Amino acid sequence: MQATLEEEEPLTVAIVGGGIVGLILTIGLLKQNVKVAVYEQAQGFREIGAGIAFTANAIRCMESIDQDIVTALRSSGSVATSDGNGADPNDYLRWIDGYNQLNQDDPHRQRMLYKINAGLRGFEGCRRDQFLESLVKLIPRELVHYGKRLETAEEPTEGRVQLKFVDGSVAEADAGILTTLVRVQFGSSANLSPDLVIGCDGIKSRIRAVLLGADHPACNPGYTHKVAYRTLIPMGDAVAALGQCKAQNQHNHVGPYAHLIHYPVAGNKFINATAFISDLCDWKDEKMVTEGKKEDLTSAFANWNLCVRNVVSLSPEKLEKWAVFDMWEYPAPRYNKGRICVAGDAAHASSPHHGAGACIGVEDCLCLTNLFGEISRTVGQPPTQKSQGIRTAFEVYNDVRRTRSQWLVNSSRRVCDFYHQPEWADESKWIKAETCFEELKDRSYKIWNFDYTSMIEETIQGYRKKMAA
Ligand code: FAD
Repeated sequence: MQATLEEEEPLTVAIVGGGIVGLILTIGLLKQNVKVAVYEQAQGFREIGAGIAFTANAIRCMESIDQDIVTALRSSGSVATSDGNGADPNDYLRWIDGYNQLNQDDPHRQRMLYKINAGLRGFEGCRRDQFLESLVKLIPRELVHYGKRLETAEEPTEGRVQLKFVDGSVAEADAGILTTLVRVQFGSSANLSPDLVIGCDGIKSRIRAVLLGADHPACNPGYTHKVAYRTLIPMGDAVAALGQCKAQNQHNHVGPYAHLIHYPVAGNKFINATAFISDLCDWKDEKMVTEGKKEDLTSAFANWNLCVRNVVSLSPEKLEKWAVFDMWEYPAPRYNKGRICVAGDAAHASSPHHGAGACIGVEDCLCLTNLFGEISRTVGQPPTQKSQGIRTAFEVYNDVRRTRSQWLVNSSRRVCDFYHQPEWADESKWIKAETCFEELKDRSYKIWNFDYTSMIEETIQGYRKKMAA
């Protein structure tokens, strides 16, 4: 017999995917007293040790979801920087000429192209693995189900959402967020019954395929024709390679067809350095990550400024080569269907050139946690029905979040084109190339100055209006 949605029982949410977005959403829903289960395909949480940075705005969103998330970020060794000379407490993003050698006598001197004041603690960089570890500690162990790779999900007109996993097990939920939040008790024999599913299962989301149909073009993210190589470098080596000020502050070295960005992480013990290289070829490999070699980097940056070559020389002989994919060409036409929705990269996988893919995912979590707060307050009170509340909430989430998050995907491509302009190598074209920074500033402000309190207001009012209609 098919399970029905019991109006008097608390909502049960299944989240599929325990990445940064899935875990932050789980913590947010628990705070709203929603029952949650997380289904993660990996046998444990094992993020790579590379760095990730969060804007001050995204950190304020985390705070609004649950202050403990910010505590977790800071306890994982996040680093906020201030102006290099120590006189100014503000953080800046800096773009410098990574290609041309300015002065042979002072090899660390580079041409400063542009800097934008990101405010006090404008960005905080941390190691992904350390942040994820701190987040997991905030979630009761029994709510997280490892080794659960989702195969498909079904939402019957009546009854709970059903999740099918590759290992043959099945779960049901009220609603699901596919990256993915699921409230289900695996291993507790029967009665695995979430009301909904949220897919937080990343760029290759299975939940997106459930929402849109497996043949929809948005189910196949496209190659951006950029490859990335990420390295963690001990701070002492970084200072020798770049000079103290540059090593201890974020810098983006731009040049023809490539760029190198770095910022301090892990309590200032390391810098996270990522090189992005344009690639004219198609990406033929099934996997997005393959083995790369140091010589790929040394040949791509062979004619660049000494500082950039110094950083490249500190890379290990073998390192991972990441093909950068995104959903720019075929964005998802919707993020919801009935009691299933997607959040984070599952909804809007972006290239990383604004350093904001996860930040925008945090905004998704803030929107969803507020909606679940509303549902929890209103379901069970006639005439509101649980399934109606969930469907309406996901419609509002789609209305509020889709355009902004897909703009990021688009804008990220655009700014990478700025960084990789061939004109950086031609002194007679420098002035032309530098005009990009006016646009870059506007685009950055659109991310950093997001009015999330208005978003919350729009979300709650939108939900109430639709429910009253
Ligand atoms: P993911 O991190 O991809 O997590 C998805 C989870 O779902 C994984 O744990 C996966 O194992 C699980 N999963 C997948 N499929 C299934 C399934 N079928 N069943 C069960 N579980 C499943 N963003 C920033 O904000 N700042 C930065 O500085 C930044 N730097 C970046 C640098 C690089 C080089 C790259 C590539 C990205 C960067 N980003 C940055 C973007 C950021 O990494 C992503 O936006 C973010 O990780 C997305 O989180 P997520 O939880 O949505 O997805």
